[in-house]
Amino acid sequence: MQPTLTFLGTGTSMGVPTLACECAVCTSTDPHDRRLRPSALVRWPDGEHRERTVVIDTGPDFREQALRNKITRVDAVFYTHSHADHILGLDDLRPLSYIAARDTGPIPLYATPETRAVLEHVFDYTFSPSATYAHRARVSLLPVLDHNPVHGVDFIPIPLFHGQMAIIGYRFGRVAYLTDVSDIPESSFPLLHDLDHLVLSALRHKPHPSHATVDQAVAWSRRIGAKQTWLTHIAHELGHQATNSILPPGIALAYDGLTLDVTL
Ligand SMILES: [Zn+2]
Ligand SMILES: [Zn+2]
Repeated sequence: MQPTLTFLGTGTSMGVPTLACECAVCTSTDPHDRRLRPSALVRWPDGEHRERTVVIDTGPDFREQALRNKITRVDAVFYTHSHADHILGLDDLRPLSYIAARDTGPIPLYATPETRAVLEHVFDYTFSPSATYAHRARVSLLPVLDHNPVHGVDFIPIPLFHGQMAIIGYRFGRVAYLTDVSDIPESSFPLLHDLDHLVLSALRHKPHPSHATVDQAVAWSRRIGAKQTWLTHIAHELGHQATNSILPPGIALAYDGLTLDVTL
């Protein structure tokens, strides 16, 4: 069993196609131009050759993504930040959480204090100590520490900026997943050495207050020097084929369902 990273979704918050839009990308027949909301899946065998599964963010498309990628168990979820396109599929963990609860216990959800506060508010019927909803998800919130080992793989938070908001990406093995980035603090670069695969968000070509452009992502990619950089959180301004044809070697747009062999 080979460890893998799968892109569950590579679209921006509205998804691509965007509702009611008739632009060239939204009406494209290339399946690479259909992008669900951003999320990633990490799978690997533990010491007893049992498959382990971690999801990064549970967006509004999580149920469809879990069906497409045959996710039948989740060992942990790591959240990057609290925006709707990254958290609103939390309830779709319910059936998987009942399996986990019977097996090992509630699914651990790793979140920063800011993300935790939003999750507790939005999903109060799940997290409130006085919650009486019998069919709530069996999940438990855990703080994100400097090291967060899950069945032999260490998930390390990478501090980032998303506009004014301090958020995190994650490094695991020789992979880093950094989405919704508009700036990378200087102190985060040393955490990004020796990467095989770097995932960076790149919304479009035109500047945006809380997301990197393609040019910004290419510049960070060169500085970080991963063997391969994959761009995600992609808006409908970027057609898959047209954008990939102008990206430098070693950098490409990811697409939904893309699965990479990784070293963890
Ligand atoms: Zn987002
Ligand atoms: Zn966001």
